[in-house]
Amino acid sequence: MMSFVLAAGILAPPIVSRADWGAKPVGPKAVGHSIRRITIHHTGVKQNPARTLEDKLRGLQSWSQREDKLASGKTKPAWPDIPYHYYIAVDGRIGEGREWQYVGDTNTEYDPTGHLLIVVEGDFTQEKLLAVQWDSLRQLTLWCASEFRVPPHRIEAHLDFAQTTCPGPELYSRMGDLRNAIRLGL
Ligand SMILES: [Zn+2]
Repeated sequence: MMSFVLAAGILAPPIVSRADWGAKPVGPKAVGHSIRRITIHHTGVKQNPARTLEDKLRGLQSWSQREDKLASGKTKPAWPDIPYHYYIAVDGRIGEGREWQYVGDTNTEYDPTGHLLIVVEGDFTQEKLLAVQWDSLRQLTLWCASEFRVPPHRIEAHLDFAQTTCPGPELYSRMGDLRNAIRLGL
């Protein structure tokens, strides 16, 4: 068995922190965990270049922290915070979501304990992944894989764990490229 060791000294890409976008405090009932894998999502909503990353994150946090009715008719509970740990916007900017120390949330049937959740803005059942988003996804995943010692085979997508189309065929088709980039340290 080949072991996987990333070269040290991988630098984090620029990340807009919670303080930078004006996050409210994490809500009650946040559960701690340690990161064992990285799981990729799409927002499932069309890309919107008209709003800033900061504005989107504030909106996503407000929605996350309240109870709401979903399109499926199911009720989503109030979550402690944004369900994902990092958000990659349409312009490639990266924002910090829920702090990685806390387990994320989901409306689907899988347990996200141990998963570092990265979400990319767009509905990749019908939209294209933009080059700036791909670059940010690659850099962020490489840094996270190095930081949390996650081997490439544990970098997967939401649909590898749950009944969902997330992250859409367009982004899912890039998962092999993503794992290869991490293997090569690119
Ligand atoms: Zn997802």
